[in-house]
Amino acid sequence: MKNIVIVGGGISGLTLALALHLKGINAKVFEAAPKIKPLGVGINLQSYAVEILHKLGVLDRIAHQAILTQEMAFFNRQGQQIHALPLGRYGGHPYPQISVHRGVLQQTLLEVAKERLGDQFLFTGHSFISAAQEGRCLRANFLTAAGEKTICQVECDALIGADGIHSRVYRSAFPEGPPLREVGVQMWRGMTVAPCFLTGATMARVGVPSHGKLVIYPVKNNVNAQGDQLINWVAEIDSEIYKKTEAPALQHKEYLVDFFASRKFDWINIPELIGQSVAPIISMPMMDRDPVERWQSGCITLIGDAAHPMAPVGSNGAGQALLDAYSLSVRLAEDSVEEAFRAYENERRPLTSNIVMTDRQGIPDQLIDIVDRRTGGRAFAKIEEVLSPEEAVRWATPDYQARPWDSKNQGAGLLTHA
Ligand SMILES: Cc1cc2nc3c(=O)[nH]c(=O)nc-3n(C[C@H](O)[C@H](O)[C@H](O)COP(=O)(O)OP(=O)(O)OC[C@H]3O[C@@H](n4cnc5c(N)ncnc54)[C@H](O)[C@@H]3O)c2cc1C
Repeated sequence: MKNIVIVGGGISGLTLALALHLKGINAKVFEAAPKIKPLGVGINLQSYAVEILHKLGVLDRIAHQAILTQEMAFFNRQGQQIHALPLGRYGGHPYPQISVHRGVLQQTLLEVAKERLGDQFLFTGHSFISAAQEGRCLRANFLTAAGEKTICQVECDALIGADGIHSRVYRSAFPEGPPLREVGVQMWRGMTVAPCFLTGATMARVGVPSHGKLVIYPVKNNVNAQGDQLINWVAEIDSEIYKKTEAPALQHKEYLVDFFASRKFDWINIPELIGQSVAPIISMPMMDRDPVERWQSGCITLIGDAAHPMAPVGSNGAGQALLDAYSLSVRLAEDSVEEAFRAYENERRPLTSNIVMTDRQGIPDQLIDIVDRRTGGRAFAKIEEVLSPEEAVRWATPDYQARPWDSKNQGAGLLTHA
């Protein structure tokens, strides 16, 4: 049997361990954190990714702790609806789109993996530092925090870097590869317990980063006796605007409540939503990385954010990680490690490179941006006077084939919000 090491016990690493197990391969997962804790806030999985959860037999356990998202609704900065796009089953797909707390998703994958693989598959407190090929054997070095910091050496046939956006496996296998790049938007993520808004399962996009954008969606129903929801929100502001203010010195909540003070709509009160945040607000610059020419280096390859960090604007990051994991498990069950890595990369790298380049353009924010420009940032009387229904559909639905990635045109399509 193949001796496979997965570096990273996040969403893609645990999914890969489960998918390989279904194919009769028991992999070992090495995770840097001393304990896997339910970290993060909301995450959104499109139907194509939910299908993978179904194939792995974990969908029911996740779905009842999640929201089956009905629609993505677009609003201008005055809170007027521009367009609504049905999602998941509501849009005719056989699988739902789901919104869920990242911690719930990760903990459920972990629980199921422990049930199926036993406790021995996971090695926490093991931080990958390097790997070296010696003949047919690959030796991976991990720093462990057991007592004194020590180096632990692990031999394997194949090593898969599932270690996220700051991947050490990527850096070690491709020291000359492109670095992460900031796309020019500062992001804040938080969660608030509040009454449900609109359909109770709407993902709302309000405004664009050049004047302040919010993405708001519930991730859990009935979290208290009043039947309130746990509502995830993401605020995005152009980095140039953020840097010009005194913002870095202010507390995140104070800054955001002030910035979005005028956004009190009849369907949601945004300053109140942010002001009543129950989770610590996480702030970070939005980042991606130019697509790379290769993921495979001998018996090492990459999946998830380690392979293709992408701007989180199209609900693709976690979903593409699930597709990578599933595709790789199928190939590894059929072929030698090197052949499997080649076939996996041929299938997944072009597709994810196109997504990186398309999401870099900020689509579908461009729908809101167009309306904002056509109305000079003012409220409209009737949306049909500003935008035709055909245009709305076209701008709201990214075409990931329309901007095929080209290694000679790396800089094309930066996020622009005129
Ligand atoms: C703490 C945390 C919170 C997040 N919160 C959100 C969120 O709220 N919303 C959202 O949309 N996305 C969030 N993400 C990102 C999201 O999980 C990923 O974009 C997506 O799920 C792809 O998953 P991944 O497995 O590639 O990466 P991740 O889920 O990021 O998993 C990577 C794993 O690798 C581990 N790791 C890192 N370096 C090493 C190393 N050297 N050795 C061993 N293990 C290592 C990390 O501890 C982590 O467990 C978060 C990621 C993390 C790590």
